[in-house]
Parts: sequence; structure tokens; C-alpha cells
Amino acid sequence: MDIVVLIKQVPDSSEVKLDPKTGHLLREGIGAIMNPDDRHALEAAVRLKEAHGGRIVVLSMGPAQAIDVVSEAIGMGADEAVLLSDSAFAGADTWATSSTLGKAIEKIGKYDLIICGRQAIDGDTAQIGPQVAEYLGLPQVTYVFDIEAVTDGTVVVKKRLEDGYEKVQCDLPALLTVIAEVNRTRYPAIGNLIDACGEQAPITIWNAADIGVMTCDVGLAGSLTHVIRTFAPKGGRQTQMLEGDTGTVVRTLLEKLRENHLVLTDSGVLSAECREGKLS
Ligand SMILES: Cc1cc2nc3c(=O)[nH]c(=O)nc-3n(C[C@H](O)[C@H](O)[C@H](O)COP(=O)(O)OP(=O)(O)OC[C@H]3O[C@@H](n4cnc5c(N)ncnc54)[C@H](O)[C@@H]3O)c2cc1C
Repeated sequence: MDIVVLIKQVPDSSEVKLDPKTGHLLREGIGAIMNPDDRHALEAAVRLKEAHGGRIVVLSMGPAQAIDVVSEAIGMGADEAVLLSDSAFAGADTWATSSTLGKAIEKIGKYDLIICGRQAIDGDTAQIGPQVAEYLGLPQVTYVFDIEAVTDGTVVVKKRLEDGYEKVQCDLPALLTVIAEVNRTRYPAIGNLIDACGEQAPITIWNAADIGVMTCDVGLAGSLTHVIRTFAPKGGRQTQMLEGDTGTVVRTLLEKLRENHLVLTDSGVLSAECREGKLS
């Protein structure tokens, strides 16, 4: 069973802070880690390989430092890693990220399953898995918490729903996005880690030309969405005490809610009862 696992390097914090002046991410003092859901995706792949044989290729798009997470993935049991790294890939929105990953998977070629995390803790969109599946024309199952069986060209999985689960049988090749509940992850093996850091490490770095894309189709240039401004929402609370009898307090409160566009009547104006303070 040949499996491609998508892995993203993310800041070691779910609390993304922005420079209030520039709107840029503040990265000082924050290390980088393998996205937590992706660790579970890789563990799921390693368990399938242990049960059915085959090869695992991990694929990551990111800056040169992302080599750390692909090396760690080899330590955990991946056979090979491909890092997509090129300044042309920078600034990609989820569309450009997914199509670039899709192109690289086409080049990798042979796979029965693609496994991703459900969501990255920085971008947080949970769009990449489904978009990669769509790009490659594959069936997909998201929110997988149990991979029950792989037989006769199909996979049987359970996917989490808000109030229970759904059991799905899906033809291979397919793409799964997994949640943390799917397994407990292992620590990387020291021997594998040493191999992953050596000169013969099975890690390949591809740029835009290597996967046959034009630079205008990737990164910021190939993105369908553009960020106009980033800012942190203003925090803090202000308290204002309303004085007077109940009618006055209710009327003032409704007016303030309306001033702040927090409440409207059907007609868009306060009703007569509200204006006269007859509502309690
Ligand atoms: C409108 C918009 C504009 C953006 N503009 C920029 C920008 O200008 N500059 C910028 O740096 N970023 C930008 N981003 C963020 C960037 O698009 C995302 O970080 C990236 O596409 C991954 O999306 P995500 O983090 O939401 O991943 P999710 O969809 O939450 O991740 C799900 C899974 O997909 C896989 N995955 C995700 N990303 C990768 C990856 N890179 N390599 C391998 N596997 C991966 C992992 O398995 C992960 O668990 C933008 C995002 C949006 C929505």
C-alpha cells in the first residue's frame, strides 16, 4: 500500500500574534513543529504500512527550514520525503497551496492513499485536504477517527460527526483527513533520525520547474485571494451603567444596541413600544 502523507511545518503556538503596526506575524521566540494533526496522519500511514507493506512518501511545501519536519517524519517511519521549496511558492493562498501539492503528488505518481491532517493550527482553514482531493479527482473522507480496514481496493473508515459517526467505504485511491482521535503517535526512532540527517537522507527538494509549474500559477501570483489587511481584533471590555427606571433603562439599552448595529426590528427601526419604554 503506497501512501502520501501531507505535512505542514507550523509555529509552535496556536496563539498567533500580529505586530499591531505592520500586521505581520510575530515569530520571535516561537519555534516550529510538525502540525499536530499531521503527526496523526503519519502515524496512521505507518500503521497501515506495518499491516500491509508498501511505501510512505511525506510531502511538505514550505521554506528550507521545513526540512526539520520532513526529517522527523522519516524518523517516525516514512520512507522518503519531498520538500517543495522555492521563493515562487511564497504567499500561496489555500488554492495555490493545494494545486501545487496536487502537481507534486502527480509527479510522485504511485499512491493508494493520501492522508492529511484535518487542519493546520496556523492557517486553520481545513481546506487543503479537500482541495487536493478535488484537484486530483479523488474521493475523500474528512474527519476520520478510525481506519477500520483496507481490502480489495477499498478503505473502510469512521468519520466523526457532531452527534456520532458515519462509517464509510471508499474506493482507492482516496484522500483522508484525520483528527487526533485516530491514534496515539510514536516518538521518532533515533536510528531513523540519524539517517534522516545524514548525507544519504531520502529527502528530495523540488522547485517550481521540477514539478512543471509556471511561477505565475503558484505562490502569491497564482493565488485567487489576496489579503488586504491583517489586524488583531481590539480586546477589552467597557462597562457602562444605565440609570433610571426600568422603561428608561430598556429604551436606552435598545438604542445603544441599535447604534452599534447589534439589534434591529424587522423594519430596521425601533418599534413604538421600545421607543416608549413599554417593553420590560
Ligand atoms: C485568503 C488567504 C490568503 C493567504 N495568503 C497568504 C500569504 O500571503 N502568505 C502566506 O504565507 N500564507 C497565506 N495564507 C495561508 C496559506 O494559504 C495557508 O497556510 C496554506 O494554504 C495552508 O492552509 P491551512 O494552513 O489553512 O491548512 P489546512 O487546510 O488547515 O491544513 C489541512 C492539512 O493540509 C496539509 N497541509 C496544509 N498546508 C500544507 C503544506 N504547506 N504542505 C503540506 N501539507 C500541507 C496538512 O496535512 C494539514 O493538516 C493565506 C490563506 C488564505 C485563506
